[in-house]
This record gives sequence, C-alpha cells and structure tokens, in this order.
Amino acid sequence: MRVVVVGAGVAGAIAALRAAERGMEVTMVHHAAGASHRSLGVVDVLGYLEEEVESPAEGVEWICRHRKEHPYALTGADTVAEALEFFRRKAEEAEMRFEGSLDENIHVATQFGTVKPTCLAPERVYTGRVELWDGAMVGISGRVQRDYSPAFIAASLAELVPRLVKVRPAEVVHGEGELTLKPLSQSGDGEAALPLLGDGRAVIEALVRLAESAGVRVVRDRITGGSFRGNLLEELRGVRSTYRADAFVLATGDWIGGGIHGRQELLGLDVAGRLELRKIPLPESGHPYALRGVAVDGNLRPSRRGRRIENLRVAGALLAGYDYCTEKSGWGVAIATGYLAGGVE
Ligand SMILES: Cc1cc2nc3c(=O)[nH]c(=O)nc-3n(C[C@H](O)[C@H](O)[C@H](O)COP(=O)(O)OP(=O)(O)OC[C@H]3O[C@@H](n4cnc5c(N)ncnc54)[C@H](O)[C@@H]3O)c2cc1C
Repeated sequence: MRVVVVGAGVAGAIAALRAAERGMEVTMVHHAAGASHRSLGVVDVLGYLEEEVESPAEGVEWICRHRKEHPYALTGADTVAEALEFFRRKAEEAEMRFEGSLDENIHVATQFGTVKPTCLAPERVYTGRVELWDGAMVGISGRVQRDYSPAFIAASLAELVPRLVKVRPAEVVHGEGELTLKPLSQSGDGEAALPLLGDGRAVIEALVRLAESAGVRVVRDRITGGSFRGNLLEELRGVRSTYRADAFVLATGDWIGGGIHGRQELLGLDVAGRLELRKIPLPESGHPYALRGVAVDGNLRPSRRGRRIENLRVAGALLAGYDYCTEKSGWGVAIATGYLAGGVE
C-alpha cells in the first residue's frame, strides 16, 4: 500500500515512521521548517487545564471524558501512551534519549528565564529539571549568544522559582553552582542543560533521517492542491511533481507550519472554529484562533464541503479543537495523532 505524508514536523515524522514500520511504501513531502523545528524540543503532553496539571496521564483521561472535540478524545488515552512509547523508541533508535513519565510532569528552565511544565525531555534537560534544585545553589552558565543570556536567566529565575515550584528555595546564580545548567547545544554528556527555541530541529532532523533509513522516500516540494474523486483524494499536486497514493496523511501544521491561512486550508478541507480579532493577540487565557483547524472524525478523517474523505487523515497542529499554547500539549498531540494517522491499514 502506498502512503503519502505531507509535512516533516513531529506529526509527519511519527506518521511516516509508523507507516513504514507497518510495511507501507511511504513518501514524505515537505518544503520548509515548521513549528517543530522552532520549538524547545521537549515533549509537552498536557501542562495546564484550568490549573497546572501534575499528571498528564490523568489530565488526558479528563479530556477524553469532558472535551469530545479535543484530539486526545479522538485518539483515546491508551493511544497517547502507546504513541509516546513509540516516539521514545524511535528517538532512541536515532540515538537520542528522552526521559520522563506520562504520570508526572517535570519543570524545566527556559531561555526566557521562566519555568515550564513538560512531560518528556532530552536526557541532559531532564538532568537539569527544577525538581532537583531543592535547596541547592544552581548556576546558569555557558557562552552568551544572541538568544541566550545566562545573567538575565539567573536574575529572572532567582525571583520566579521559589514562587513557582514546590522545592525548597534554591539559590540561582549566574555562573557555576552545585548544579550547573548550560544550553543543550553547549553541554556535553552527563551535564545538565536547558532547552532553547530551535532545539527541536535536531530531533526532527534525526527522526527524518531515521525514516529515510527505514525506506521512506523524502521529497522537498510544496503541495499546492489536490484532486478529489467522490470521497477519495486521488493525487496531490506539488510545484515539482504530483503524488498518487492509496492513503494520505496531512500534517502541514497550523499558520506557523503553513497548513492553514486565515479561513483557508490548502486542499479546501472544512475548517472549524471562530476567526475573531482580539486586542491582545495571545492572551493568557488563549485565543479562539488557536482552536481553529480541520475538524475530523474518530479516525482523523476530515471533510470537504461536508463530505468525508475516506483515504485522508489529518495529524498535528492542523487539527481543530485544542490550543497548544495555553494547555502546553504541542508535541503530545502531534505524536499521538501522527501515530494514529500512520497506522493506516
Ligand atoms: C515557538 C514555539 C515553541 C514551541 N515549543 C514547544 C515545545 O518545546 N514542546 C512542545 O511540545 N510543543 C512546543 N510548541 C508547539 C509545537 O511545536 C507544535 O504544536 C508542533 O510542533 C506541531 O507539529 P506539526 O508536525 O503538526 O507541525 P509543524 O512542525 O509546523 O510541521 C508542518 C510541516 O508541514 C510542512 N508543510 C506545510 N505546508 C506544506 C505544503 N504546502 N507542502 C509541503 N509541506 C508543507 C512544513 O514544511 C512542515 O514540515 C512550540 C510552538 C512554538 C510556536
């Protein structure tokens, strides 16, 4: 069976890897870096509902019961757990170790001098998690870069951490400490690190290389449209070529990845959610724009002009019904839905 996956973010990479593992003949088409490349490269599964979430597993269960439109309610909690283990296994095959558990969020310091909850993190980021700062002197070190100021981060964390995290107050200093953190890209084996925006790129590139070595044909092209016959997608048209397959996965991301522009989705799929102007573009409580995306059925199949497209599945940030900015669920949803979409029969 031939499968075409559009998108090489985390959703597309996981969909392609899963389809290849199931013996499909897979082509992956992508054209530029999306949100995954620009991210911190830690796996947020669920950081916040009304309040901060301690156990992502319990939070996902809650969503499955109460938020029917959320992608986790479509995949189900078991698939989220299975998909995370699949991601962890594939990352390991690509020689990257991710630590953490679906049962418990950890907290990591960021380049903005803030702390965020997340679920899985690269080994060295996990080694620097805030849960280990209990009463210690924590040093923020490393070379100053355009996007990295250890002095600023230390000053900000020294104020924030005692209020935010349930550890005995740590003393955060600029320089070396009992536990010293550097940017992931400047750290070596066994050292503790904090992630910077853009660290996601290395993870995605490694997964795409792994997919290639598993037989996935990876093509650089920009899809501009598709041809439908009845309730089937027949082919996708790119700038360079056309792509025919028995099944398709669309993992083109949101407005950052390029999958959705205002009211329009690339293939004219039905888009759900309101488009409203707000004075503050990204209020803390979330923006209706973030919930916009392609609405799908329980098998992640979208509709076009009200008719379900049987051989197309949608994964990742292109999906409607969730707001990864406020709930911190970006890679989690992309991994769970990419895994489900890649499990084509
Ligand atoms: C600044 C920032 C930091 C973040 N940090 C984190 C984090 O640390 N942890 C976390 O869990 N979440 C994070 N998120 C959220 C997370 O990055 C996204 O939810 C997730 O990466 C979406 O993945 P995706 O594969 O669905 O889309 P994307 O990663 O956006 O991938 C879309 C893909 O589709 C391709 N594409 C689009 N249109 C076309 C076309 N016409 N033809 C061919 N290819 C096309 C693009 O080339 C790209 O490969 C962050 C988001 C942002 C904006």
